[in-house]
Amino acid sequence: MIMELSDEIKFVLNKLNMAGYEAYLVGGSVRDFFLNKHSKDIDITTNAKPDEIKEVFSSYNIIDTGIKHGTVTLIYNHLPIEITTYRIDGEYLDNRHPKEVKFTASLKEDLSRRDFTINAMAYNTELIDYYGGKVDLENKILRAVGDPNKRFQEDALRILRGLRLASNLGFDIDKDTMSAMHKHKLLLKNISSERVQNELNLILLGDYVKDVMLNYYDIFEVILPEITPCIKFDQHNSHHIYDVYTHIIVAVGSAIKDKIVRLALLFHDLGKPESFSLDENGNGHFYRHAEKSEILARNILNRLKYDNESKKQILTLVKYHDAVIGDDIKQVKRWLNRLGEDLFRKLIEVQIGDNFAQHPRHRDRQARLNNIKKLIDQIIAENNCFSLKQLAVNGYDMIKLGYRDSQIKLALDFLLNAVINNEVENEKGKLLEYLESSKKSNKIN
Ligand code: ATP
Ligand code: MG
Repeated sequence: MIMELSDEIKFVLNKLNMAGYEAYLVGGSVRDFFLNKHSKDIDITTNAKPDEIKEVFSSYNIIDTGIKHGTVTLIYNHLPIEITTYRIDGEYLDNRHPKEVKFTASLKEDLSRRDFTINAMAYNTELIDYYGGKVDLENKILRAVGDPNKRFQEDALRILRGLRLASNLGFDIDKDTMSAMHKHKLLLKNISSERVQNELNLILLGDYVKDVMLNYYDIFEVILPEITPCIKFDQHNSHHIYDVYTHIIVAVGSAIKDKIVRLALLFHDLGKPESFSLDENGNGHFYRHAEKSEILARNILNRLKYDNESKKQILTLVKYHDAVIGDDIKQVKRWLNRLGEDLFRKLIEVQIGDNFAQHPRHRDRQARLNNIKKLIDQIIAENNCFSLKQLAVNGYDMIKLGYRDSQIKLALDFLLNAVINNEVENEKGKLLEYLESSKKSNKIN
């Protein structure tokens, strides 16, 4: 099997070989090559020690990214290339950190510490595959290298890395690997929030997120205990065909692949179980569940250390996920003003995903949501005014007219509203005239 390596990879492998070292492309880059996927990073493994790697590339831009673990990053042709010395992990102390990292002279040993067989192949002029990664790749099987129980006990993050690979590739998980994942799931509590967050984000963006999150819900309960009340929770409601958890996950999997949109959908109905009530006809209701969901979502986002901007956007989407938005231009302009273009587009995508997980007889709502998207396009293309920023008058103009303090904002809002309602054109002279005549007729002070 011949792999056509990129010039950058050939350069690094040659350079190390010429200096007398072994060097291989390894891990995700080899896996992705066989899957015909673009690999997001390039990993090289070598028997050269970090100082020796630095010596070989001394006239190039090289950074100590993880020198403790034997990793340096070479920037070549603007590409970051991670070069790591063959290593074996020492004993694991706490299901996440090896006590020590030992360098080894053996590629086989280096490959044995890797998580899954499909990630444990190496290549320079031929494929090195000690653990059957190629066959597993062909059969679409995810299998831990070595004893799965031991491997997940060493580093529980591997459980989530496995689910991430399954969500992205649609592979089946080998029986023993799968039962070890379930068995050791509680060890995920020892994993840092940052690492959990990173894997969760990647799981959500996979093509097979629905299967993974439905089949392995017990593992997700460990990192997201807020989902537990939703699992198998009957909605007693004719708008719905799924229990709350299934509805949530179908919605996630039906939405566009955007991290913020899919996280918002993951949280949007978490508050349903606690806001549930049954009416005299036996119909379930979830009054004000969006508010409850927002509270639970905030807890999760804080716990998993999401950045402030993502938090703000996700919570706004959760809050408004079930707002009824008409496909008329005035309403669309008001929402654009409230949320801004980017977030309003995401809200529509949240509603589209949510609708795909409701009873099929409500699928006609998609037409309205798609019309809203067209209206947004039109408003943006025509540069129509929907915000104070775009209004042809500003605070100084109001001050010149004698407005003070809070009156200024009131007057500007009044004018913006009139522009959105097509009562006046967004043109300075016309706006000032309109304000003057409105004062006379006591529509504004
Ligand atoms: P991608 O880069 O597409 O996210 P990847 O498999 O390349 O996926 P990286 O995090 O870049 O993942 O890691 C590179 C390689 O290092 C993996 O392919 C695997 O061989 C090994 N690896 C990474 N994390 C672990 C881990 N927690 N336990 C064991 N091996 C790991
Ligand atoms: Mg990688």
